[in-house]
Amino acid sequence: MITKDQLQALAQSLQGDFHYDTVMRTLYATDASAYREMPLAVAIPKTEEDIKKLILFAKANKTSLIPRTAGTSLAGQVVGNGIVVDVSKNFTKILEINAEEKWVRVQAGVVRDELNMFLKSYGLFFGPETSTANRAMMGGMVGNNSCGSNSVVYRSTREHLLEVRGFLSDGSEVVFGNTPYPPLSVSALTTKTNSLENSIYQKIHEILSNPENQAEIRKEFPKPSIERRNTGYALDVLLDSEPFTNNNVPLNLCKLIAGSEGTLLFITEIKLNIVPLPPKEKGLLCVHFNSLDESLRANLIALKYQPTASELIDHYVLECVENNIEQKQNSFFVQGKPQAILAVEISKSTQEEVIEIAKQIENEMKANNFGYHFPLLLDEDVKKVWNLRKAGLGLLSNMAGDAKPVAVIEDTAVDVNDLPDYIREFNQILAKYNLFCVHYAHAGSGEIHLRPIIDLKTEEGNRLFKAIADEIAKLVKKYKGSLSGEHGDGRLRGEYIKFMVGEKNYELLKEIKRAFDPDNIFNPNKIVDTPPMNTSLRYTPNQGTPQFKTVLDFSSTLGILRAAEQCNGSGDCRKTELTGGTMCPSYMATRNEKETTRARANILREALSGKFDIKPIRFSKPNRFVKSNEAELQSRFNSEEVKEVMDLCLSCKGCKSECPSNVDVGKLKAEFTHQYYQMNGVPFRTQLIGNFTKLTSLAALFPSIYNFVFTTKFTASLAKSVMGFAQKRSIPLLEKETLRAWYKKHKVLSVRTLTTTELDQPITNNQQLTTKNSKKVYLFCDEFTNYNDVSMGKKAIQLLEKLGYEVEIPLHLESGRTYLSKGLLNEAKDIAIRNVDLLKKLVSEETPLIGLEPSAILTFRDEYIDLVHDYQKEDAKKLAKNALLIDEFLAREIDKGNIKKEQFTEEKKLIKLHGHCHQKSLASLTPTKKVLSLPANYTVHLIPSGCCGMAGSFGYEEEHYEVSMKIGELVLFPTIRQQPDEVIITANGTSCRHQIKDGTGKKALHLVEVMWEAVR
Ligand SMILES: Cc1cc2nc3c(=O)[nH]c(=O)nc-3n(C[C@H](O)[C@H](O)[C@H](O)COP(=O)(O)OP(=O)(O)OC[C@H]3O[C@@H](n4cnc5c(N)ncnc54)[C@H](O)[C@@H]3O)c2cc1C
Ligand code: SF4
Ligand code: SF4
Repeated sequence: MITKDQLQALAQSLQGDFHYDTVMRTLYATDASAYREMPLAVAIPKTEEDIKKLILFAKANKTSLIPRTAGTSLAGQVVGNGIVVDVSKNFTKILEINAEEKWVRVQAGVVRDELNMFLKSYGLFFGPETSTANRAMMGGMVGNNSCGSNSVVYRSTREHLLEVRGFLSDGSEVVFGNTPYPPLSVSALTTKTNSLENSIYQKIHEILSNPENQAEIRKEFPKPSIERRNTGYALDVLLDSEPFTNNNVPLNLCKLIAGSEGTLLFITEIKLNIVPLPPKEKGLLCVHFNSLDESLRANLIALKYQPTASELIDHYVLECVENNIEQKQNSFFVQGKPQAILAVEISKSTQEEVIEIAKQIENEMKANNFGYHFPLLLDEDVKKVWNLRKAGLGLLSNMAGDAKPVAVIEDTAVDVNDLPDYIREFNQILAKYNLFCVHYAHAGSGEIHLRPIIDLKTEEGNRLFKAIADEIAKLVKKYKGSLSGEHGDGRLRGEYIKFMVGEKNYELLKEIKRAFDPDNIFNPNKIVDTPPMNTSLRYTPNQGTPQFKTVLDFSSTLGILRAAEQCNGSGDCRKTELTGGTMCPSYMATRNEKETTRARANILREALSGKFDIKPIRFSKPNRFVKSNEAELQSRFNSEEVKEVMDLCLSCKGCKSECPSNVDVGKLKAEFTHQYYQMNGVPFRTQLIGNFTKLTSLAALFPSIYNFVFTTKFTASLAKSVMGFAQKRSIPLLEKETLRAWYKKHKVLSVRTLTTTELDQPITNNQQLTTKNSKKVYLFCDEFTNYNDVSMGKKAIQLLEKLGYEVEIPLHLESGRTYLSKGLLNEAKDIAIRNVDLLKKLVSEETPLIGLEPSAILTFRDEYIDLVHDYQKEDAKKLAKNALLIDEFLAREIDKGNIKKEQFTEEKKLIKLHGHCHQKSLASLTPTKKVLSLPANYTVHLIPSGCCGMAGSFGYEEEHYEVSMKIGELVLFPTIRQQPDEVIITANGTSCRHQIKDGTGKKALHLVEVMWEAVR
């Protein structure tokens, strides 16, 4: 038993971080698989010396280490009860490249796609590609011997692994690479006699030079013709080298390390073979079939033409996309009702060659009576089909409820020639259990991903999980296939290895493990000695799913707990600023697993499932939490653990659109925070921020006093300290009158003619603004524009009027964004109810509600629907449809021909556009680009930035300032700093503009300001 003191002493001896608190252990208890096991601790080593210390500690104290990178394993490879060692944060360097010899040396935490971004300028790349390539790291790819849809050409990671450096289980350092043969003696293979390294070589030699073992391995391991096979340790591959086979292939233990799932060696450095970039021209021949069987037979014809991929999409996937606007558009090429489509990718130097090969494939398939439609897609259309292929499964995974497509038999691979018969028998087995599977993915390599839908929260589901795995293992064995084609054995398939390779071979695998790791330190219970596959699961039979009382409506996910359970751990939320997207800004800035969307969903799921001790309630509203079952359940929200992990969530909503499983942490955080405050009271700063509108309306009575306080060093500093705001932040000032006040006067004036004097614009003769015969629009006068961005608001009104619209600011309340962002949901609910009532009769498709601040107007499209009374839902939904960003409204009018290029300047301008997170998530930047590009010579470039880092009040808060600026520094600030003064920076979010000002000193403009300058 390891004591806390021992762990503390270890923590102190490391240069990196070491955690043994509940929060961090919980976050590392799961990966992307169905498994869950609480680790003893989590280490984030900083140096190789740290790793060595951890190994020696584990050895001395009889515990284990679980090496981990992105944690996207699907079979429970990085789940275990020892110390999880996460090298994804500090081992991220590309160390050396030799373009001439075509190799690169990297640390274990280098992301696959980032490596290829680096290699691109050399005209080279690392071939194997997983679907997770934008976050999966090289250590994990080696660990699992990963590959992907292009494996028909580039095979798996093993084939590209030249050398690995790392630590053996006794802490000694080792490099495995090509070993020259014939050696003088076995010990001559290594530099050190009597070392663990030496005894490993001896053991390998002993096992593989034994003819009986050789025969048994050749007999029992998967067919060598199967390109992707991750069954146990790759003794069969090693056997295929000198001196065991006379084939001039040098012995290289890397082949064994690839796919060893962290059980043999702790890898620190990896030397990889790299290859020339593939030919530029790609074409996708999407052959339509009347049956799945026909498609699998036709696959054999496609493979004769050396395609770069041959991927299957079945009718279930096509049916799944029926109700999805984006995917329906992506399925534009589908004709009739195909049972299956084979997407055959052809890559060549010219399009003519692509077309020619496609024609040949089509002719040969037709000659064999295969397929009924043969569209060849080129250029951008290729991406759309890949997108569709991936989305189908995502849509299926998002099904509400506890029954989900489960990774259990999803990774089997057989010889491509066996595929049609194998799949037929496979489906017969499923039918016996009344189950069905979506069939998709790598037909070209004999691997189809198949996930049956099972409810693991029931006894029956747990039993099915095992029964199906048992049956399919037998079937795969019959075809001499591999139970794992690419995802690895882990906890899921380890149990079957003995059956798959036979008892004798299994004993050899155990000997290998003992030779490398006699004390069982490295990732135990994977590959050998694996416990039953239906134990240590994330969901256990009869655990139930309690229902909680919530303010926000979680009915679409059947409750808040199930909303958190939507997270399957895929790790898309670990993409980086280089690989792109918005989700998740706090992870991008810190590279801490704790700051991922996944971490937040994981911790909430654990808390609401009752896994944490319940903390005494400090404060509760009278009669709200009486002693009852319900109250006890609600008290699970009183969790410091969840509070801690939610802290750096910016509520940017990036996850709402980018998480393939629709995990919406912004919403989860708002509800959690609300519930937490019910039991703990609302902190002073939160009240201050929530009540921003009320307080600002008071301050607006004396704007000069307010501005004096925040522009005078001493008073500003004092005020910021009192409010808990960062000293380095500037505070938005007030204008001398509010937009509403200005608008009242303006209305009177504009009955005849409007002038622009109030906007400090010179008046020219052609600036006669008329409201005659105009179309009416309602402007949502949000709280930020009303008080802080008045001049922008004025320009918006004048711009609309000049373009021929009659603008009215209707009676409404603030948006409620400040309450929502702080989890003050009762207040936000009152506002939503009131605003829907006030606006429902006015707003229609003909008279839309137009908003300037994305975070404010988009509350109508997002939170209001979840906040209002049930009887208001239909009105709220109707309102949501007609609540438009001004960009959307103007773009719509451009499309209708009501706004024309000729109304704007012909001056030449370059615009750099930063998009607001909420807009990117809930709407789109396409209308913004369309509007800004309307003037004849305006060019608009999108800044590839995610979140700006400000996110409402987040960036003002003292403890968040640093992370906020770090987020800004990822892409946004450096891009803006590089721009010459004449370039216009545009950002529609008030927070974004403020962040740009604080971070770069440059002024960013709202779209309406740019268009106001441009209008003639
Ligand atoms: C949605 C989804 C799609 C996927 N698609 C594919 C696919 O197309 N092809 C495919 O092959 N896989 C796929 N996978 C599985 C997974 O993404 C890959 O196996 C990936 O390469 C794992 O990388 P990782 O960085 O997440 O590794 P992790 O999960 O962190 O680790 C993987 C293994 O490597 C070991 N390891 C990590 N670092 C070290 C080290 N320094 N020393 C020793 N051992 C180490 C770990 O112990 C573990 O056994 C998919 C997963 C998901 C969730
Ligand atoms: S939050 Fe979404 S993207 Fe992140 S791991 Fe969970 S399911 Fe995947
Ligand atoms: S709302 Fe934004 S910050 Fe929060 S988890 Fe989602 S992506 Fe991350």
